Amino acid sequence: MTDRDSVHAFSFQDFPVRGKLVHLNASWRAVLANKTYPDVLHSILGEALAASVLLASTLKFDGKLTLQLQSEGALSLLLSQCTSDFHLRGLAHWRDSLLTIAGGVSPMQLLNAGRLAMTLEPSGDGQRYQGIVPLEKDSLAGCVEDYFVASEQLPTRLWFAASTHQVVGMLLQQMPREGGRKSNKVDEDGWPRVQMLAETITDSELLELSDVDILHRLFHEENVRLFSSSPVTFRCSCSEERIRQMLRGLGQDEVTSIVEEQGAVSVDCEFCGRHYSLDRIDAEHLFAQDAVNLSNQKH
Ligand SMILES: [Zn+2]
Repeated sequence: MTDRDSVHAFSFQDFPVRGKLVHLNASWRAVLANKTYPDVLHSILGEALAASVLLASTLKFDGKLTLQLQSEGALSLLLSQCTSDFHLRGLAHWRDSLLTIAGGVSPMQLLNAGRLAMTLEPSGDGQRYQGIVPLEKDSLAGCVEDYFVASEQLPTRLWFAASTHQVVGMLLQQMPREGGRKSNKVDEDGWPRVQMLAETITDSELLELSDVDILHRLFHEENVRLFSSSPVTFRCSCSEERIRQMLRGLGQDEVTSIVEEQGAVSVDCEFCGRHYSLDRIDAEHLFAQDAVNLSNQKH
């Protein structure tokens, strides 16, 4: 097993099904290092991160994909973002009730009355898109599969395995038939057969085998083509400019009162732990700059 952060595409040559394999190692450990999560949240947070990479890898777009699970349960928010360049970040929020829950609870039981939202934000002027489904399955994979059914997108299946060192995910997706017509050459049983084969994979096989070995283990009787892999990196999109924008949104009165109370405005990025601080002069400049921009716009 090699230590890597990558997403690898493959396809079946005899029928229109494609697949992706994602491995998160350093990027997963970076997410865990930025915040101390209760053990019960590890696997589902890792799965959400892997899912967002797999989904981003199936889309032809330039921008950011966000997978968000919200619930009334002990796990209030699970958020994972992956860009089309496979820059990844994520976090979870939980309620105090999580800490009193006994062991042996499945993560999905913490997402009571929850929903899953997938949002695509193209960079540039493209239209933002969001789809939402209720969380009704007992696994994250099942809930994401529901999303594909509800949004009438391509039939898709997912498998995940997570440890504290790495997360591995696999996606299979049935593609539209070329030209939309039936061809005698197409193997009609291909899609149900590869799902059945993939069901036999175990967590330890996903975590321990290389991509080549996973594909050989599952599909050695199929004609599979493995493409080159793309690197995945933990990278946060926070910046001083974004923090300034956020503080401008709070308004001058609010920011001034924080500065008067605390001497400065401190903001820690929840995704990467980066610390931002604005002193009184920075804060005044923040709104003075605004006034300048506004007066420019009037001309
Ligand atoms: Zn950050």
